[in-house]
Amino acid sequence: MANNIVVLGAGVSGLTTAYLLSQDPANRITVLAKHMPGDYDIEYASPWAGANYMPVGKEGSAHQKWERNTWPALKEITDKYPEAGVHFRGTLIYNRKKDQESDTGKWFSELTQPNPWYKDVVPDFKNVPSDQLPTGVDSGQEFTSVCINTAVYLPWLVGQCVKNGAVFKRAVFKHIADAANAHHTGQKADVVINCTGLSSKTLGGVLDDKMYPARGQIVVVRNDPGPMMSTSGTDDGEDEALYIMTRAAGGGTILGGSYQKHNWDALPDMNLANRIMKRCIEVCPNLVKEGQGIEGLNIIRHGVGLRPLREGGTRIEKEKVDGVAVVHNYGHGGFGYQASFGCAYDAVALVKEVLQNKSRAKL
Ligand code: FAD
Repeated sequence: MANNIVVLGAGVSGLTTAYLLSQDPANRITVLAKHMPGDYDIEYASPWAGANYMPVGKEGSAHQKWERNTWPALKEITDKYPEAGVHFRGTLIYNRKKDQESDTGKWFSELTQPNPWYKDVVPDFKNVPSDQLPTGVDSGQEFTSVCINTAVYLPWLVGQCVKNGAVFKRAVFKHIADAANAHHTGQKADVVINCTGLSSKTLGGVLDDKMYPARGQIVVVRNDPGPMMSTSGTDDGEDEALYIMTRAAGGGTILGGSYQKHNWDALPDMNLANRIMKRCIEVCPNLVKEGQGIEGLNIIRHGVGLRPLREGGTRIEKEKVDGVAVVHNYGHGGFGYQASFGCAYDAVALVKEVLQNKSRAKL
């Protein structure tokens, strides 16, 4: 018996969920979204991400499980499918004790542990010897991670889904239950998967008040400094971050950033952009030629994205809304890529429960 499935949302959460579901030929999938890969919009977080795998889930949490379960899938994609736009990259993390209580320090508290759970997940983990740490840095870690060129990876996911028979359509919904009536077969969907990110705050039938943004501003440059790096914080403000990552396949280098909670401003703040560029060069002088400052950076674009944070954490749950079976998979904050497969596995398990109940009801 065929299953009619609607995935609402074409960010990394919706596309990864659709990709996994599309591997079962019994599933007829329609992906519906206001924004699709190729668009750049403040309501669409996924294109703005770096994106890399820097685990932040606390030991023993569901978040940790999602990140742990995502690494093997990202590794396999990197190994097997160079056309997906993901590459392995050396990674350096610097930790300063004074950042412990700041927003960025708390966000990265698991990442910056000297003995973190992810040391057995990523390859080549080691602590940086103290005599190799720059002044002001208390500890450091090195490992191999991945950097995802989102401009290549998101379309690659679309391509995999289309190859497996999924149909993509633009649509905007005021209420989640309405999406069940937009399946490409004309029949009602058996289940709708809600992957609308921050918009779950305003989408009818969901109206999740726990959702809020953490604004991330970036500068994309043509310079290539080599390994990825990140620090636990900066001296420019509690909610200003520092990270550098060069994307695969000519995607440029992302200089970040910020983690500004409850800030919805879509426009780049040029003062913040200056601070981002200055501190990246300070920590990573080989971004530019010797003796150069920010004039040595070759800028592709400035950007702002809103990380879809949720008080209480990501929501992966099923419920009935106006008689429609809905599986939620939203609220992935700053970890939507590095937890993408782990979260999608859990969402797919819930979809299977819904479909089994449907089959039982028909017997
Ligand atoms: P989104 O990408 O926002 O997609 C939502 C989808 O739902 C869109 O297609 C939208 O059009 C659709 N939609 C919403 N409402 C409706 C509606 N009513 N009708 C129809 N369609 C609708 N994560 C990492 O793992 N690693 C990183 O290095 C990283 N770096 C980041 C850096 C920045 C600057 C930012 C902003 C984020 C970063 N993230 C990173 C986080 C990551 O980008 C997000 O967690 C992730 O993109 C969320 O994806 P999503 O699919 O849930 O939501």
